[in-house]
Amino acid sequence: MDHVSECPTTYLDHAATTPLRAEVAGAMAAVLAEPLGNPTGSHRPAQRARRFLEEARDAVAGHLGRDPREIIFTSGGTESANLAVFGTLAVAQERGRSLSILHSAVEHPAVLESCRAAHRSMELDLAELPVNAHGVVELDALIEAVTPTTTLVAIMLANNETGVIQPIDEVARIVRAASESTWVFADAVQATPFLNLAEQAVGADLLALSAHKVGGPVGTGVLAVRPPAEVRAYQHGGGQERERRSGTQDVVGAVGLAAALGLAEAERIDTGARIGALRNQLASRLLAAIPGAVRTVADSVPTLPGHLHLCLPGIEREELLVLLGRQGICASGGSSCASGALQTSHVLTAMGVPDSLAQGAIRFTLGHETTSADIDRAVAVMPGVVAALRHDP
Ligand code: PLP
Repeated sequence: MDHVSECPTTYLDHAATTPLRAEVAGAMAAVLAEPLGNPTGSHRPAQRARRFLEEARDAVAGHLGRDPREIIFTSGGTESANLAVFGTLAVAQERGRSLSILHSAVEHPAVLESCRAAHRSMELDLAELPVNAHGVVELDALIEAVTPTTTLVAIMLANNETGVIQPIDEVARIVRAASESTWVFADAVQATPFLNLAEQAVGADLLALSAHKVGGPVGTGVLAVRPPAEVRAYQHGGGQERERRSGTQDVVGAVGLAAALGLAEAERIDTGARIGALRNQLASRLLAAIPGAVRTVADSVPTLPGHLHLCLPGIEREELLVLLGRQGICASGGSSCASGALQTSHVLTAMGVPDSLAQGAIRFTLGHETTSADIDRAVAVMPGVVAALRHDP
């Protein structure tokens, strides 16, 4: 046995991906055991697949408080963000409108890079809305920037690095007061396990979800589009999903997403309270044990209950993560994107966090199966690792 496999695993990286929940795997296995056709066909296996798909759509719509026709199944959060951006721009273009997007400075790359790619390929006004020192979008900047010619305002429901929750309803009110034909797009990928999306994202015309962040399978997501907002297909082919997303639907993935959302919703209040208490314990114990450690977002700012973001002066996060990983502690440097690992986080830069602190950024994210033993273990390991790195850089 090597050193790594001898350590127990303490998984505190749920914002990167969550373990597939056993109940979800069970629901998917039950569907996999049936002979399934292509849901667009007319024979019995096809009808069975269609029934599973439409039941999953109804369930997802129910959890989001939306009409089932609004639900577009996709391959995940990234595809949903691309479809939201390019799909709404295509509709505006068809209508001869000028193209313009406002997005917050702290969006996930799925949104940021979609906007930037659109900007490179079409005549598009693109503007970034600043955030305050806590990472909350500056509403005054939105009031000033949004006009009836704005196509889309993209502001995430909760940030993947810090867990900070954005005031989406306030955003929607501002946008509606300025324009009848500007749509609000909220990336709810991180918020899904913890927030009541039917209530807390009611102002969003478009909403993106990803199953693997909520105990479901990787490779399935949703874009919900509430009329009169519309999207044109970004991915072309057979015209599935009411002509909005071509490709044979992943019936088993959709069943998994619906099951995962059902579990999250049923447990949301209790799980949120339990995880929030564990996160607060982790925060206070680490801050007490590690000299100079700083909590990046003030206690008073609403965040997802599972997120704890710290900055550790004098530490290089990649070295810290390697040493923690050797001891079985799974955390992340802030973002879990392939491109973001070694760069300074654009989220921290937008919040005005100095580079010297941002270098030592670490994100712990707790989830459904996190226990107090996980917190004890992280608290037992972290101070020693930080001290070793400071003395022996
Ligand atoms: N949006 C946010 C806020 C995320 O955290 C992620 C994944 O980390 C995505 C979008 C992309 O989702 P997916 O991994 O399903 O493509």
